[in-house]
Amino acid sequence: MAIVILASISLAKDPEAAAEDLHRYEFSGVAMAAPVKLIVYAKDQETAESTWGAVMARLEELNQLFSDYDPESELSRLCTLGGPGRPIRVSRELWEVLSRAKEFSRLSEGAFDVTVGPVVRLWRRARRQKALPSQARIAEALRSVGYENLRLDEEDHTVELLREGMRLDLGGIAKGYAGDQVLSLLAERGISRALLDIGGDIRLGDPPPGTEGWRVAIEPFGDEDRPPQVLLLSRCAIATSGDTERFVILGGRRYSHIVDPRTGWALTGNMQVTIVAPEGITADALASAVRVMGPEKGLALVDKLPGTAGFVVYLPDGSPPDAPPLVFASKRWAELPHLSFPDSCDDLNRQGLSNSR
Ligand code: ADP
Ligand code: MG
Repeated sequence: MAIVILASISLAKDPEAAAEDLHRYEFSGVAMAAPVKLIVYAKDQETAESTWGAVMARLEELNQLFSDYDPESELSRLCTLGGPGRPIRVSRELWEVLSRAKEFSRLSEGAFDVTVGPVVRLWRRARRQKALPSQARIAEALRSVGYENLRLDEEDHTVELLREGMRLDLGGIAKGYAGDQVLSLLAERGISRALLDIGGDIRLGDPPPGTEGWRVAIEPFGDEDRPPQVLLLSRCAIATSGDTERFVILGGRRYSHIVDPRTGWALTGNMQVTIVAPEGITADALASAVRVMGPEKGLALVDKLPGTAGFVVYLPDGSPPDAPPLVFASKRWAELPHLSFPDSCDDLNRQGLSNSR
């Protein structure tokens, strides 16, 4: 995992925190096919446990809407029953995710695209069988890809898939949205000091009592000796899109689980994109978008959106084994509250800032 939550250091005396009399509770489990961790500050164990139960139930509900593995999910049924001339009415949640997804497609000029399903399937098979898909198969799959073929009717919340064979894949956006949904659920229960991590998509509420933020470490890749970069964050989301865990090496090239929807090819090289954004859905989708767009264009998009910041570490294919990765940062990255770094990490940061446009 590229992002790690560190224990928070309490400020010496915080009268407000003492008055709140909150205790820290931590839970972990699995939801949406990912490890889940929840940290909440609550008044007692019972409150914390019932909150955890409600969070897991909500995540399971969302999984039944968004899963592309479960043939019974709302998303799978939309893809099976829907098609040209067959608009389908969808739930509020699926509507929200699909409309935001389409907005990210426009902003990223198609780099982020949830209609990429047929191509993702080809590459999943390639990873299993350790063999590249043929150009003919890629071209065939691409015929059913393209966000302009996803027609969303604002009035009655119906979705029409304008091409035969379309498959939607919310793998690059659903966990971020789920984080936002869980934070609203916690707020309704009167819990504001919370952190939720769904497989590396992290959503943060108010900071732990007596602290100025959650300490979130971004572990460097390609150079394990370097200390992590540590941020002090609250009321926002942080997500990474990395190839560190899911990839396949074929013919000496490293292929990511993220694909370019415009060419149908899986991305090569080793890149870790970290995005901080006001909402989870933005951090999640933008991390995937920047991975496809590359550091220069991707971070230019990050600079354009309100309140977002991004950091990219990139080792292009064919780099010499001891080459240091390239580091890039968006304009707002330096403004994020960083904790003081050890010297070598300062270096990494300066390098990142000098590489930014
Ligand atoms: P994870 O955190 O699970 O690694 P990411 O947020 O990095 O997920 O998104 C990767 C997933 O998004 C892929 O596994 C696939 O399901 C889907 N995906 C791949 N390429 C794209 C793309 N260009 N646009 C949108 N979704 C994509
Ligand atoms: Mg993502």
